Amino acid sequence: MPNDTKTPSEGAHITNFIRQAIEKDLAAGKYAQRKWGGEPGPGPKHAGAATDSAKIRTRFPPEPNGYLHIGHAKSICLNFGLAEQYGGVCHMRFDDTNPEKEEQEYVDSILEAVHWLGYHWGGKDENLYHASDYFDWMYQFAEALIEHGDAYVDSQTADEMRATRGSLTEAGLESPYRSRPVAENLKLFREMRDGTHPDGAHILRAKIDMASPNINMRDPAIYRIKNAEHHRTGDKWHIYPMYTYAHPIEDALENITHSLCTLEFEDQRPFYDWLLEKLASFGLLQRPLPQQIEFSRLNLTYTVMSKRFLKQLVDEKHVDGWDDPRMPTLVGCRRRGFTPEGFRMLVERVGVSKSDSWIDYSVLEDCMREHLNDVAPRRIAVLDPLKLVIDNWPKGRVDECLAPNHPQKPEWAKRSLPISGELWIEREDFMEVPTKGYFRLFPGNSVRLKYGYVVRCTGYSKGADGRVSEVHCDYVEDSKSGTPGADQHKVKGVIHWLSAAQAHQCEVRLYDRLFRMVHPGTGGRGFLDDLNPDAKKTIAAYLEPALKDAKAGERFQFERHGYFVVDRDSRPGAPTFNRTVTLRDSWLKV
Ligand code: ATP
Ligand code: MG
Repeated sequence: MPNDTKTPSEGAHITNFIRQAIEKDLAAGKYAQRKWGGEPGPGPKHAGAATDSAKIRTRFPPEPNGYLHIGHAKSICLNFGLAEQYGGVCHMRFDDTNPEKEEQEYVDSILEAVHWLGYHWGGKDENLYHASDYFDWMYQFAEALIEHGDAYVDSQTADEMRATRGSLTEAGLESPYRSRPVAENLKLFREMRDGTHPDGAHILRAKIDMASPNINMRDPAIYRIKNAEHHRTGDKWHIYPMYTYAHPIEDALENITHSLCTLEFEDQRPFYDWLLEKLASFGLLQRPLPQQIEFSRLNLTYTVMSKRFLKQLVDEKHVDGWDDPRMPTLVGCRRRGFTPEGFRMLVERVGVSKSDSWIDYSVLEDCMREHLNDVAPRRIAVLDPLKLVIDNWPKGRVDECLAPNHPQKPEWAKRSLPISGELWIEREDFMEVPTKGYFRLFPGNSVRLKYGYVVRCTGYSKGADGRVSEVHCDYVEDSKSGTPGADQHKVKGVIHWLSAAQAHQCEVRLYDRLFRMVHPGTGGRGFLDDLNPDAKKTIAAYLEPALKDAKAGERFQFERHGYFVVDRDSRPGAPTFNRTVTLRDSWLKV
């Protein structure tokens, strides 16, 4: 099997605004003097250390609360790819500031998916971090903000705060608690920390500007009471930081230079900068500070990617688990036979921009086809079998035909295909009465059996059900492909076939797109209404002998049909195949 090795980021030369920003910073030496204490920490922790050998630092920060999907692949390829390209390091960071139950299953699967895509978080995977490890620092930073008069404890109810936030056109109203003395704020905040107050009784807010045109700057909440256990810190905390407060601090503690995020965080950037600037001015963070850069998220047609929808598909058993080959999860994509190289190509091709747009699912499929075309050995499979009997074939004779493993790679050599007097062909390769332009088998017509002989159809018989059960033909002795006389026999049709005695039957799952609508769940329909009922069909097909011992994960092109991968639940000597993608896009006409 061509293994999942990394290719140098395809098209790394294609520039975009993120690369331009990084190149500008590198040229100016903006981050060249930063120190790196070997692990994340506040400014003073890095201060005496050596200069950071990583030219840039990026991070991939998933919440460990679900399986990664195709959208995450974009973020992964961008963050890890840029670090790779510019002599930097990309951190793997679990953004686990919410005290929810952590499922080890998600953590393991996230790490495995990033590795599968071909990336590492440092030469020895040493840059693996958890945001919850920074809780002490986040807390100290909050006290520092209070001490400097930049944060206060608000005791309004959530409803009151909502009512005074203002709107896009109206300024907000200042809280009656806004001018609480520092000492009182500190006392209350410490009580919040120690579990003295119930959830919702108080909240810590940054003190910025209730009249700011940007609602995110109107004294945003930074710490909330949540008397809940955290899977890593246990019952130590009764308060947890808000994401918008935690994330910039995580970046700064880790010496991140370029913090890439999706466009919906654009309005948060002023707060990101405000917060880090404050903390740096208190001497708590090293300068220069990380910068947030937003890019458009990946939206794919014929797909849903929200965690909630994916979970529902699994929980309600519309699919066979998270790694069902129809799922847009990376575990599902992998089982489907999609390749890491295909994903890198996709991300390079869709590029990054500042406006959200939809990428057609066929772009993803084309990337996979392109890579698989290059790496998948060719094999023969008959998916809808019909018996072809060669009446003039000498009884008991078995011949060898030679078929190239890859038409453009002679160095991959040829394999032998046995041929005998009884073959399997595709049912669609025979017609009792041909339609116009049909050049395959019909009574009186000749075709070439690919890599084999020319045969002439002499007749057919039908079963009790009225369906054609057997086609008869005669073969032409001196017409074998690759032999001197073969070219004299001109025929218009070429079909594939398998010798019935040597072919073996296997389960093949024909997968297709999970949804039949471009934008599932829109136009008044629920997304489940748009499931494609034909997204999985299981058939028994005949495969050539060389496929009998195929191993899980091996990929092939079944000639004329598409790309297939051996499923993980195959038994030795009895592989099961998943169709990754057809050779041509059959959805164009839809
Ligand atoms: P949640 O709603 O739970 O936050 P999420 O999809 O944002 O879901 P995260 O685990 O927070 O999940 O995502 C990790 C990273 O992946 C984030 O930086 C996020 O911006 C990025 N990401 C998520 N979805 C996409 C997408 N469709 N395209 C590009 N990046 C994405
Ligand atoms: Mg998120």
